[in-house]
Amino acid sequence: MTDRKDELAVNLAKVEERIARACAAAGREREEVTLIVVTKTYPADDVRILADLGVRHVAENKDQDAAPKAATCSDLSLSWHFVGQLQTNKVRSVVGYADFVQSVDRSRLVSALSKEAVRAGREVGCLIQVALDAGESGRGDRGGVAPGGIEELAGLVAGAPGLRLAGLMTVAPLTGEYAGRQRAAFERLMDLSTDLRRAHPGANMVSAGMSADLEEAVAAGATHVRVGTAVLGVRPRLG
Ligand SMILES: *Cc1c(COP(=O)(O)O)cnc(C)c1O
Repeated sequence: MTDRKDELAVNLAKVEERIARACAAAGREREEVTLIVVTKTYPADDVRILADLGVRHVAENKDQDAAPKAATCSDLSLSWHFVGQLQTNKVRSVVGYADFVQSVDRSRLVSALSKEAVRAGREVGCLIQVALDAGESGRGDRGGVAPGGIEELAGLVAGAPGLRLAGLMTVAPLTGEYAGRQRAAFERLMDLSTDLRRAHPGANMVSAGMSADLEEAVAAGATHVRVGTAVLGVRPRLG
């Protein structure tokens, strides 16, 4: 436990240093960027250590792992972000612990989230996940809506009881015109965020950047970076 705490403290300090350096390089204040630690596949004990080390925001991508972890850690008053593809039959459970759902990408999900948020008497912050590599279908392989679908979805979220339109999220594409061009992808997301905020000024979260590309995200203007591996280590299985 102590060894693990030392390990996480060292990793966290390194990530903190990277964020601070990226902010300085971009002429941004450190306070403009929030670190979200992605704890997927790692145990509740790690979440507890991270909270002890000052982490306030954690993210998970699978309800079956996240729900028991969030319940075990409910005394820590952390903000929980759901960042995975979300089936409507998991929405009731997710709404029970998630402060933010960052992977909103279709109207059916909006209505399910709204219904369950109202039922639970909770307000859920929603980020629209943008697929910058969306093909003909208008949907990305790893979830997300094509840029052309943002406006309609944003309107639905903004008008849905129990939901608050919080902003945009993306994962840098592995294929298509943005493959290997994280900085360009994140700049495109920023442009889309600027468009969105004309109609929805409060939707100012821009969630982009992971362990490998957080510097590019900070440079582009991201307000939230989602870092897993660089803090917790290489995941034992895909998650
Ligand atoms: C796993 C995951 C992350 C973190 O990825 P790392 O490369 O481990 O930092 C960020 N965002 C989403 C949506 C994820 O699923």
